[in-house]
Amino acid sequence: MAKENIEIPKPKTAFLKVKCPGCGNEQIIFNSANRDVKCLACNNILAESTGGKVKLKAKVVKELE
Ligand SMILES: [Zn+2]
Repeated sequence: MAKENIEIPKPKTAFLKVKCPGCGNEQIIFNSANRDVKCLACNNILAESTGGKVKLKAKVVKELE
């Protein structure tokens, strides 16, 4: 399998403000966490770790840098 070699001109890491789809709690998460990120209020998974950039399960309200 060929590995793609495309440079992405975005910062590797960023903070995202997300809204929990379960309870509406807004929380700031890191977009490259190495473990699942859960809602502090209801424990719903907001972002799944993929080993690199997280796979978001919650709606992004705002991107922070
Ligand atoms: Zn929640």
